[in-house]
Amino acid sequence: MPELPEVETVARDLQRWVAGAEITDAEVRWARTIRHPEPPEQFVAQVRGARIRRVGRRAKSVLIELADGRVMTVALRMTGALIVAPPGTPDDPYARVVFSLADGRQLRYRDVRKFGRIGLWEGGGLRARPARRKRRLRETRTPYRVGDVFGRHGPEPLASTFSAARLAERLRGRSARLKTLLLDQSFIAGVGNIYADEALWRARLHPLRRADSLTPDEVRRLHRAIRWVLRQGIRNRGSSFADYVGADGEPGANAERLAVYRRTGEPCYRCGRIIQRMVIGQRSTHFCPRCQPAPQGEADG
Ligand SMILES: [Zn+2]
Repeated sequence: MPELPEVETVARDLQRWVAGAEITDAEVRWARTIRHPEPPEQFVAQVRGARIRRVGRRAKSVLIELADGRVMTVALRMTGALIVAPPGTPDDPYARVVFSLADGRQLRYRDVRKFGRIGLWEGGGLRARPARRKRRLRETRTPYRVGDVFGRHGPEPLASTFSAARLAERLRGRSARLKTLLLDQSFIAGVGNIYADEALWRARLHPLRRADSLTPDEVRRLHRAIRWVLRQGIRNRGSSFADYVGADGEPGANAERLAVYRRTGEPCYRCGRIIQRMVIGQRSTHFCPRCQPAPQGEADG
């Protein structure tokens, strides 16, 4: 599943290739891909004639900002991909939404397993401080502004405002295990299974450590590690294991740079001990039993 670096890679590629392009038409081939507005005919009518101003990212979603201020969100989920197809490119049976561009190219939303979702929203609200946990959006309110879509998401880990102090503040009083918390999108946006494991190895913290057990030095290590692994992932155009490819069709190269993820049974790059795997909250978790000592009372494996 694409995480922050993979989605950032897609967004940067698209920015290069489709910023300024005009969407002349759209074809929705799988209705459930369209989250908003409904029905899909409404989505097509509203997107027709729109010009793409720029492409960015929030959490694990690509944001296609339109010249009139509206924003299209693309959540790639498991197998979604955005592909720019030059004129004459053979049709793709897995294309769920096809945008025709004025210059003859197509922007195709491809999704084998069909879990991804596309929405078209009014702009605004993205830069507002995330809602506090207890002040949730009312369930009855239809999300409308793009900011509402991300109202429950935590901070962007690569934002300049995401400091070690802010991380410490968010960890305080939380009894959750580190691995569980890093995967929680309301705690921090964009981190998934790969980068959570990588960050914990780099910070030398066991995935089962309780959030409120970290010393100030450990919090600083975790903060640095989260940002480092995400930045390295972006530099390498993401880690591809399955269907994910960058928007130009090139797979990311970061998979070979990973230190623990899917390296069960291989030696730790730092100390030589064998990388182990355990399951936390139904997610595979990879760690080094020497570099990441188990908290007291937990099995060391
Ligand atoms: Zn080690």
